[in-house]
Amino acid sequence: MSAQRLAELIRKHQPCVVLTGAGVSTESGIPDFRSPTGIWAQVDLMEYASLTAFRADPEKVWSFYALRIEMLTGAEPNDAHHALAELERLGLVQAIVTQNIDLLHTRAGSREVVEVHGSIRTASCLACRRREPLEESLLPVPRCPECGAVLKPDVVFFGELLPPAAIDRAYELARGAALMLVVGSALEVYPVAELPLETLRAGGSLAIVNRAPTALDDRAELKVDASAGETLREVVSVLA
Ligand SMILES: [Zn+2]
Repeated sequence: MSAQRLAELIRKHQPCVVLTGAGVSTESGIPDFRSPTGIWAQVDLMEYASLTAFRADPEKVWSFYALRIEMLTGAEPNDAHHALAELERLGLVQAIVTQNIDLLHTRAGSREVVEVHGSIRTASCLACRRREPLEESLLPVPRCPECGAVLKPDVVFFGELLPPAAIDRAYELARGAALMLVVGSALEVYPVAELPLETLRAGGSLAIVNRAPTALDDRAELKVDASAGETLREVVSVLA
């Protein structure tokens, strides 16, 4: 029923921009790092995912990060990723803005993906700025082929600015969206908390698919409290 309504909203309000958070990847077996279970519960994030920690002891950060990258590259896109890629092919999704660094949207076939927290696609040298593809063969401690320094994954660490080009693009998309479809985010963290407001301010509508309350439920035209994969698969079957 709600998938039917969501499909109607997507058809009626174009362009549609999708905003995804950790919840879109949990069905691929990737835990939300803010959830109280899983590997993240046992580590102090400031010790392993902050710029200060990386500068102080990059090998230590990699001892943890290499495991994370192995987990992410071992995961597969789920029904939600595939459905969103299909909606783009159908001309019904303009772009995806994601907080996720796992590359699963791209691997599912989505083309317009804006990664506001960076991704594990590449790593950069903080000393000489060289950027390298982050191949698994470089693990456990990737080093700069130019100067030998330890490379940092191009993922936004605590204490770092978000990539300005991606943020600008995300705001531009949000302002131009007739419908912002949020999937798998509680909308608590900047910038995802701000982008739907940008759409609403510009006169667009908001729809949310998330398995828990979000900060903007009362501003949404539709809130679906169900599995992202199941819901979006149904939406595609209505629209395809
Ligand atoms: Zn270097």
